[in-house]
Amino acid sequence: MINENGSQANRIMFFLLIISTQFIKIRIMKVIKKGIILEKIKANDLNALNFQYYCENCSYFIPDQKACCLGYKTKPHLKENQDKLYNQSGHLALCRFLEID
Ligand code: SF4
Repeated sequence: MINENGSQANRIMFFLLIISTQFIKIRIMKVIKKGIILEKIKANDLNALNFQYYCENCSYFIPDQKACCLGYKTKPHLKENQDKLYNQSGHLALCRFLEID
């Protein structure tokens, strides 16, 4: 009786593990499909707040390689590309991991 309960609990745990794994996969796919998130930034805020929004100001940026030591794509977050995007659309591709020392 104890073994049956134990194996049933194991099956339930396994089932819950599979369900949660599938849920995580779906969430990741949604994020990948969405692509990069662009934030609308008011020009007043951008000018007044000394806003840091590009890789060149980030602690994780490797300047000579134009790369991120965390492994993220830097291309959308480089100053040149950010400024171009902002001038065209009023949006910036903000990196959630940008860190200023
Ligand atoms: S963490 Fe983000 S902002 Fe910093 S270097 Fe990497 S991609 Fe650029």
